[in-house]
Amino acid sequence: IFDEYYIKSLVRPIQDWPKPGVTFRDITPVYLSPKAQRMVADSLIQRYVETEITHIGALDARGFLLGSVLAYELNKPLVLFRKQGKLPSDTLQQAYDIEYGQAVLEVHKDAIPAGASVLLLDDLIATGGTLCAAASLVKALQATIYEAAAIIDLPDLGGSQRLQDLGIPTYTLCAF
Ligand code: 5GP
Repeated sequence: IFDEYYIKSLVRPIQDWPKPGVTFRDITPVYLSPKAQRMVADSLIQRYVETEITHIGALDARGFLLGSVLAYELNKPLVLFRKQGKLPSDTLQQAYDIEYGQAVLEVHKDAIPAGASVLLLDDLIATGGTLCAAASLVKALQATIYEAAAIIDLPDLGGSQRLQDLGIPTYTLCAF
């Protein structure tokens, strides 16, 4: 059974990282706990088993940790959304705003067929910029987003609301 308080107790706040004024939510202690890993994975597997999802989309880099186990358990193709310059074949690219400037997210053009129903996974939703960029790439490939899911939501930063306003259902296991 999912214990939100247990998982939250393992998310470590790091003050002033990576910049002064920012509190970074460090999830590495969650992954140091086999019990917590299992709790997170099992609750997502339970939510998405027996749905119409055809593809698991995992966001560079901590989204890969969730994406890999979900794709394995649900027996679905795993699509990697990577930061610029990492994917070797033909890619689609989407720029998005980060705190100072822009970043670019990429996906292989042949990774998602038209009509696919994609579950997007990342560790955390802050401004929602990263998941919005991934969602644009999914839409550009004529596929749909089943849901965007993460372990943690930071609702004060507005990302989950922004995604919902764009018609993208979101799901998170806990919030700070
Ligand atoms: P967004 O694009 O929603 O503003 O930021 C979310 C992305 O940045 C995710 O890929 C996430 O891994 C990373 N990120 C931003 N802030 C944090 C944080 O406080 N903790 C963790 N673990 N990741 C963060």
